[in-house]
Amino acid sequence: MVAEIFDGKQIANSIEEEIIEETKELIEKRGVIPGLAVILVGSDPGSQVYVNIKRKASSRVTFHFEDYVFPDTAEEKEIIDLIERLNNDDKIHGILVQLPLPKHLDENRVISAISPEKDVDGLHPISAGNLLLKQEGFVANTPAGILEMLRRSNIDVKGKDVVIVNRSKIVGRPLMVLLINNDATVTVCHTKTKDIKTHMKRADILVVAVGTPKFVTADMVKEGVIVIDVGINRVEGKLCGDVDFENVKEKASYITPVPGGVGPLTVVMLMRNVLMAAKRSLKK
Ligand code: NAP
Repeated sequence: MVAEIFDGKQIANSIEEEIIEETKELIEKRGVIPGLAVILVGSDPGSQVYVNIKRKASSRVTFHFEDYVFPDTAEEKEIIDLIERLNNDDKIHGILVQLPLPKHLDENRVISAISPEKDVDGLHPISAGNLLLKQEGFVANTPAGILEMLRRSNIDVKGKDVVIVNRSKIVGRPLMVLLINNDATVTVCHTKTKDIKTHMKRADILVVAVGTPKFVTADMVKEGVIVIDVGINRVEGKLCGDVDFENVKEKASYITPVPGGVGPLTVVMLMRNVLMAAKRSLKK
């Protein structure tokens, strides 16, 4: 079997088209331009790249975009003061703090300062709680993007054995809940998992986000598996995921490429959350 390749870019483009249409209508009928504010602390080049990607995506979907850059030495109070100001700014519907933050800052305290109504990254405890209780709310972008990619590829997760290798708050934890909410059977693996290969080998859908190139090789997956590679690594100047793509694709039924797989979906899900936040602000 040779896998079908998920075209994350194309799926993201069609979602972007829908967002552009809805935004046009929101502006024309209600005079509201969805607004996103991104806060970056420090000079990590990777984080700067991600903020740029979000700026460009906001521009494509005609959103208002503001970015705020703090030095590595910024104090928590300065950042929380800005968040509180943005919480009360009617032009801004979504606030995102680019992670990771420098070590001296308490990520949980900073994220918790964002108004849950503007938590477009879906990482506030209220958003996480809503997801856990299967209530309406913002869902973290990467897990939401994975589910949307599967849905738009006509893959139903109901009853499927899904194995996730990651338990972080941005990928594994929210994805686990989202999948359970959609009737999948979920196993979550991490560095303390015993015999991880046995778990991976029985997966109908395998999601990997460890940050190690070629972590998943062909002998670790079953014939016909659906592989979602979330990892982003740079090897000899080129981007790659966590899966030995060339060999695993010979065995899988579907596989995501890196780049061009989950990444574009993550960005467009953020845009969708900002649009949703702008629409919800009208109901207040
Ligand atoms: P993270 O917080 O470092 O989490 C990595 C997870 O992988 C942890 O749960 C860790 O287990 C597990 N892990 C690492 N090595 C392992 C091993 N040898 N065996 C089993 N489990 C292992 O990272 P993250 O922020 O979730 O990101 C993970 C990867 O996804 C990175 O490459 C990142 O760049 C990428 N990413 C991509 C997107 C996208 O849009 N495409 C979005 C987010 C992240 P422990 O919990 O036991 O440490």
